Amino acid sequence: MKLPYAEPYKIKMIEPIFSSSRSEREQWIKKARYNLFNLKSRQVFIDLLTDSGTGAMSQEQWSAIMSGDESYAGSRSFDQMQETITSLTGFPYVLPTHQGRAAENVLFSVLVKEGDVIPGNAHFDTTKGHIEFRKASAFDCTIDAAGDTTRYHPFKGNIDIGKLENIYQVFGKHRIPMIIVTITCNSTGGQPVSMQNLREIRAFADRYGIPVIFDAARFAENAYFIKTREKGYEDHTIREIVREMFALADGMTMSSKKDGIVNMGGFIALRNKAIYQESTTFNIMFEGYITYGGMSGRDMAALAQGLEEATTFEYLESRIRQVQYLGQQLHDKGIPVQEPFGGHAIFVDANRFLPHVPRAEYIAQTLALELYIESGVRAVEIGTLLADRDPETRENRYPRLEMVRLTIPRRVYTSNHMDYVAAALQNIYLRRETITSGYRIRYEAPIMRHFTVELEKISRR
Ligand SMILES: *Cc1c(COP(=O)(O)O)cnc(C)c1O
Repeated sequence: MKLPYAEPYKIKMIEPIFSSSRSEREQWIKKARYNLFNLKSRQVFIDLLTDSGTGAMSQEQWSAIMSGDESYAGSRSFDQMQETITSLTGFPYVLPTHQGRAAENVLFSVLVKEGDVIPGNAHFDTTKGHIEFRKASAFDCTIDAAGDTTRYHPFKGNIDIGKLENIYQVFGKHRIPMIIVTITCNSTGGQPVSMQNLREIRAFADRYGIPVIFDAARFAENAYFIKTREKGYEDHTIREIVREMFALADGMTMSSKKDGIVNMGGFIALRNKAIYQESTTFNIMFEGYITYGGMSGRDMAALAQGLEEATTFEYLESRIRQVQYLGQQLHDKGIPVQEPFGGHAIFVDANRFLPHVPRAEYIAQTLALELYIESGVRAVEIGTLLADRDPETRENRYPRLEMVRLTIPRRVYTSNHMDYVAAALQNIYLRRETITSGYRIRYEAPIMRHFTVELEKISRR
């Protein structure tokens, strides 16, 4: 018999988690104003809110923590981190920041001005926030197939070059400071971008002299998908693929809380010295001196090690197999999910799951709240709340997809936890016909409202 797959690690330290009753959860979530971000971790059994900074570090990373160099300037841990990043990406200039959005803040302070237009593949919420905060706009040029969860496409993070071309024709070079390619593309379901598409984006950018910046939080997962799905890459190592991907960009912003497998951190890496030099001023103002930028020496040391681990096939296989294990169970139960499964999360298609809840009542949020009340599993809405209002008209922006993201932290949960999540969703799916109303907003912030929004349940008889 062929032996089944098993993880290439064992568990050395455990952290208790707490179960609760349905009536406790009903009270807690009401008190949290139906915002899952407002819950205490003690009130959550399995936390699939995010894979950001929630991973488990290895013994080698914990060892690196102990030997971190806390020198203000010229830290040895910075050198380790910089050498690792340069050898993985080929970018010679590296600036640490305290997390990914800080990298965006620093780099966009250099590159983005009012009235600019920044095309890309479904920009991440903080990326879009930093663009719109500067009175510029983000244009989503993702291929149409990404918006259809019933359709198979191996690279639903790809950019439609025709859409890029249209934006160029309307706005021209001087209003397009860069193209941002998010690898993997979080907002369409953790979907990868193919090497072929990266090459086409590069060719487009070269034609018009526009820089390409990768929002690279899950670059290693993207490389895994290229290896396993794109013809010609089967025999390449993850590192060879990573190197080839970054050779097609001018720079990157990184949230190290994802494929860096650390709890906090980020960085900018660049090929261009002039942009780096301009960025250092903003880095010093917003983040800290150029050899620590908001990170402790020990955290930079753990990041250097985390990046080494994240770019091994063995790690990526265990990581992505676990996500697929959950996705397959949901698929087998008939639950509508974005397919093929993404790298870091399973995205449940709430429009198809809860067809009787009106669009204006936040379908995906309604499903995420049901899941919490049913089981203590905390997921996150990727839908209308997240999409925010149009900065001009102040109307809700209704995205093509209304999704609940089940985000899997790295090396944290077991298959039993995945079984529990699948069973909870199945229970709701079986009674989906009875769910016909959602929520209305009582309070919202002017930008990135989903973090602090307050809701109230709509009851219709
Ligand atoms: C998480 C993330 C960010 C922002 O990074 P933080 O570390 O959360 O500030 C930006 N882009 C993508 C694609 C991300 O996943």
